[in-house]
Formats: sequence, C-alpha cells, structure tokens
Amino acid sequence: MDLSTFSFPTTIVFGAGSAGRLPDELKKRDVRRPLLVTDAGIERTAIFERIRKPVPEAAVFSKVEPNPVEQNVLDGVAAYRNSGCDGVIALGGGSPLDAAKAIRLLATHSGALAEYDDLLDGANRISSNLPPYIALATTSGTGSEVGRSAVITLKATNRKTVIFSPYLIPSVALADPELTLDLPPHITAGTGMDAFTHNVEAYLAKGYHPMCDAIALSGAKLVWDNLPRVMERPQDIQSRSNMMMAAIMGAVAFQKGLGAVHSLAHPLSTECGMHHGTTNAILLPAVLEFNRSVTPDRILHLATLFGGGDAAERVRELNQKLAIKPRLRDWGVPESILPSLADKAVQDGCHLLNPRPCSREDLLNLYRQVY
Ligand SMILES: [Zn+2]
Repeated sequence: MDLSTFSFPTTIVFGAGSAGRLPDELKKRDVRRPLLVTDAGIERTAIFERIRKPVPEAAVFSKVEPNPVEQNVLDGVAAYRNSGCDGVIALGGGSPLDAAKAIRLLATHSGALAEYDDLLDGANRISSNLPPYIALATTSGTGSEVGRSAVITLKATNRKTVIFSPYLIPSVALADPELTLDLPPHITAGTGMDAFTHNVEAYLAKGYHPMCDAIALSGAKLVWDNLPRVMERPQDIQSRSNMMMAAIMGAVAFQKGLGAVHSLAHPLSTECGMHHGTTNAILLPAVLEFNRSVTPDRILHLATLFGGGDAAERVRELNQKLAIKPRLRDWGVPESILPSLADKAVQDGCHLLNPRPCSREDLLNLYRQVY
C-alpha cells in the first residue's frame, strides 16, 4: 500500500514585534539558563542587543560559521554544559538555527553526530528527550525555524549531512519580520532565492502531497511578488513580512522533498564557499529545463504564476533583477573542480526526489551548463 504521512506541527508566533515574546516563552517552558546560539556577525548588531537585553540570564555562544561544521556543534555543546544550560535560543539565518538543533540534540543524546545521519537511518536514534528550543530567524530563506532537519558539514567526509527528526522542530518559532529590515541587499536576494527554490523544488518533487503542493505554489508566488519589492524598499515591513511567510511556507512544503538544485548547490558551498541561496538561484533555471520533459504541466503552471512564457527564462530575469551573476565562473569557481563536485552531488540525497532521475553525468552536465 502507498501511504503518505502529513504533519505540520510547528507553533509559529508570526508578526512584527513577536520577538518580544521571548521571555514569556522561556518562562512558559521553565527555562532558567538558556544558551543563545548565534554567529559573530549578528553578535555585533543592534538586533542581538534587542534580543539579549530582556534575557540577561542567557549564556551566549556565537562561534557558528556560515556553513556550520561539526566542530561548531561540539563547541556549542561544551558551552551548553559548562554554563549549566537548560534550553536553547537560536538567533540568525539557517546556520545558527541548524547548529542550535544539533547542539540541542547532543545535549541529551550520546555518540557522534555522524551516527544521526539521515541517510544512515539516524532519525530512529533521535528521541523526544530534548531541551526546549526557541528559534528566531533573522533572514527569510531557509525556514529552518519551522523545519525538522539540520544540515551540518561533518569532519570525516567534508559533506553537508542532513540530520532529520520530527523532534528537532523548534518548540516555538518567533517569526518577527522586523529582524530582517536591515539585511544587506545581497543577503536579502540570496536568502530570498533559497525560499523561492524550496517552494519550486517542493512543488516539482516526486510524491503525492497536494497540501504541500498548494503551500509551495503560494509560497513561490509570494517570493515572486515581494522579493523585487524588498530589494527596492528594504524597510517595507509588509513585503518583509510576506518574504518571511514565503520562507516558512517553503520549509513546510519541502517536507515533501527537494530536488537536483539542492544536490548541486551543497558541494558548491562546502568546496567553494558559495552562499547557499545564491547558488540555488544560479542553478534553478538549468534544472527547470532539465525537468521539463518529465513534468511539463507543473512547470507550465509555475510559468503562469510568473507572468507566462518559459519558467526558466522568467527565473533568469528575476536573478538579473536581483543582481545575481548567472554563471559559476563569475563566482571564481575553477572549471577543473566540476567533476569532483559532481561526485559529491550524486551522493547528496536531495536529488532522489527530483522529478527526473539524475546520474552523475546529468549533474556534471548541469554544472557545465551554468559554468
Ligand atoms: Zn535551501
């Protein structure tokens, strides 16, 4: 029998000012000594001060790198233990939010992070015995604040590894678009295109999930309408709110699955240090063309949301509007590295739900096309 499991369980407090609920949400969960996980960049901002001030009891851990690595998690767990913490707050983009999930996991689960790799059935080793976790996103991109996975690069493989369990979902997400008002334009564009790609890939992913499909289509349209607007008017709270909602919708929708864009993008971050969302933006048009022969109706439907014509072309135009350079060579990626990137991309689990099956050769060809 072919069964589907649907679940949409994250508690989300959404809207301008929702971050002010943090002390109450900690009290509600009896957290007396939270570990506030963030990164060094955010620690220097006014947003950090605004979040930290009402919770002076929090210990701070700010050593999360832009693409979090295992050592960041181990250092975070040490900080959690040394400070006698009993809960986790994360403030930031996907990196601090994901690292915090893994810190929270290892705070109560023994063994190495590699044992929880989703590809090795790690989810079965994760129990509900986890400390409370309150997530505050400062970007509208990954939607990690409502997601059940953490992506961490492991030391042994230098590969982005997905750790997945419904128990990893934050206890509550305080989704406050005011936290995104001061994002620099290239981060707004890159993270926004991550949200866009999540919605598009989820809609096209294999599998039966009409609820995710509906959310993904609305999420993609929200990005299409609002991302150019926030680029023009960064302080427009309504457009920022819509982008934050689109990011949340993308992450809810991609419980259905993602696709080849994400498998191709992950090695470009680990090997070449490229920004995840920006990389997705560059790859998405070529993957839409690659998928067109197997799912023409869905790609046509996306195109109608984006003003008609050819979906891949519309996305290229959006990238241009966002000043995202379209070729990998523009980003300093050496051509000689493409075969080894393809070796890594084919090992990445995301493409397994791409509507058209991908061989290593297919993935290498896609890299060459956008080179
Ligand atoms: Zn992504």
